[in-house]
Order: sequence, then C-alpha cells, then structure tokens
Amino acid sequence: MVVGEVNMLKRRQVKLTQCFKPLTGTKINGNAALLANQYINIASVLEQVQPGHDLLRFQHHLMVAYIAMNTRVPILTYHRVHLDDQVTVPNDPGRVNLSEFKKQMQHLAKLGMQTVTHRQIAGWLLDDEAILDNAIAIDFDDNRQNVFDNAWPIMRELGFVGTVFTITDLADKTPLPGMEMYPAMDWQTLNELRDGGWCIAPHTCTHTFLTQTDLDSARHEMQQSYDRVCEMTGIDAPYFAYPSGCWNQALEDIAKTIFKTTLHWCTSTDPRIEVPPRYARNRLLPPHGRQCCVGHDLRSL
Ligand SMILES: [Zn+2]
Repeated sequence: MVVGEVNMLKRRQVKLTQCFKPLTGTKINGNAALLANQYINIASVLEQVQPGHDLLRFQHHLMVAYIAMNTRVPILTYHRVHLDDQVTVPNDPGRVNLSEFKKQMQHLAKLGMQTVTHRQIAGWLLDDEAILDNAIAIDFDDNRQNVFDNAWPIMRELGFVGTVFTITDLADKTPLPGMEMYPAMDWQTLNELRDGGWCIAPHTCTHTFLTQTDLDSARHEMQQSYDRVCEMTGIDAPYFAYPSGCWNQALEDIAKTIFKTTLHWCTSTDPRIEVPPRYARNRLLPPHGRQCCVGHDLRSL
C-alpha cells in the first residue's frame, strides 16, 4: 500500500464519516447498507495499513451495529471497563480499557447520539412508544463492579444511561465458581445505577449457557432471575440477555412467555444482514482497545 492510496482512502473515509450522521434516526435501507459495506471495507483496509486506529474500528463497529439492528437503535454491549494498566488475561474480549471507553463514549456524544435503556427499546418496539432521535443502547453484561467504578462516572458526565444484565447470584453474593474472577455489583450498587436512570435487567441466576442445560433448568434460570431483579430493584424489567448469546428456538419459546424482549449477538465481521424478529434484538461487542496486557495472565496478579 503506497502513501497516495492511504491518503485517498483517508479522504473517502472522512467523506463516509460525514455521511454517517444523517443515517442516525433513519431506517437502514439498501443504499445505506451499501454505504456501510463500503465504509467497512475502507475501515478494514485502513486498519491493516495503519494499525492502531481504535476510533476508526469503533466507527466501523457502530456502522455494523446499525445494519445488524436494521432499526434506528444500535446496541453496543460491554462487559468490563478496566483501568488501562490493570492486568487481565491476554486478548481478553470482555475487557475495554478506560481510556478507550472514554473515547468511544465521547465519540457517541459528538455524533449527537442519545442513550436509551431496554425499557425504552421495548416500549418503542412493542408498544409503539416514541423513542429519542439518534438513540443508542449501551449494555453491560455480568454486573461487574468496574462498570460502576469506571464506566458510570464517564457516562454520567455525558448524560448517558445504560442497561446492566445482571447475574442475580452474583448480586446476591452467592458463591458462583468460575464467575468470580472480578468483583460484582451487589443490589445496593445496582440500585444506585437504577436511581441514576439505568435499567437493571436479568441475565440468569448462575450464567449457565442455556443451550447446554435442560429446558426445565433453563426456564428456572430465566424466571428466577427475572423475579429476583424485580424483587430487589422494585422495578419490572422483562428484558433478557442470553449468557454468551447461547439461544435456540426452544429457549426462545420459553423466553417469550416470561420476557418482552430477548437479546442475541451479531459480529462485526459478518457481512450478512439478518433482521431479528420484532421482540428480539441483535447487539454487538465493541472493540476493546489494543493495550490489553498481552503476555500476562491472571496468575501474575
Ligand atoms: Zn454474560
């Protein structure tokens, strides 16, 4: 790749970035999907020739999120927001560095995006309620304490709110082997977010992958976690995220009897555009940043 070509791609990228803004608030149509694919191609080429363009990767993800939703509301899902120098496992996909997260949130604010929770999304999807222009949802799965410590102050400053999909046994401080690598938010902390306008929603009791258990146990995980969230937050939240996105039609049939909406995954590299059923939403894992402590593992902590 020669310098001239890179510059040309950069100019096109800027042009496409300018095209991005009008897309917010409008339904993605064929032309928009074409534009997005073009954008993604350019972003991936730039990424190859100039590694380290984290913001560019984020814009790419955001665009894919629009296409994947095929609606006005893209959903970005985070898990943990760590201090930049904190050590976790190598190439940890659930991690985003605080500095990177801040950049991403500031970028959304610059685009004029406004956050909504899954309460508003369900109202808009199922009850035809109005939704904010330029709406976007910011999700956090697994109720980790560093969401409260690190993500919330940044989001609060920007007037953003999020949805926490809560593993209720962790919030109850019930021992949960395999899920205790990082401190969890308990109900008191979760209710501070609730009071800040966030939505607290169920994500099973134990984070069992529901495709790997029998249907009775799966139903129990769904119902119990739903009931516990309502009981401890005092607010009904029939919005469910499958652990690790593991779902199938039999599970979906159960979920529909309990919840208003369910959440699936899409990937930023999959060019196929799948329109989810009305009650279901796709969501995307944003890029986690480059300085993810390669070469370390948890044993060095
Ligand atoms: Zn999870």
